Amino acid sequence: MGLLSKLFGGKKQEVAADVPIVACPHSVLVPRWDSVQDMGIEDKATRFMCEACKQEFAPAEAAHLRDTLLERLALENPGGEGASA
Ligand SMILES: [Zn+2]
Repeated sequence: MGLLSKLFGGKKQEVAADVPIVACPHSVLVPRWDSVQDMGIEDKATRFMCEACKQEFAPAEAAHLRDTLLERLALENPGGEGASA
């Protein structure tokens, strides 16, 4: 009892607007293109911007972030043990 409300109700972040969010998981990466004719082709994206913190990443970094996103989210939210590999 109370565990669920703790999980769902205790997620409020009290972060001042001008304080950089260090623990951003960069879960939503928006592709950006330098040349207009490449727009829409994710393979040709020149960089990726995190929608949450607006930080930009090189394609290799973005790929790495995507690869490790589930791991990093699991680290931040322990309790998912027992999931099959
Ligand atoms: Zn971010």
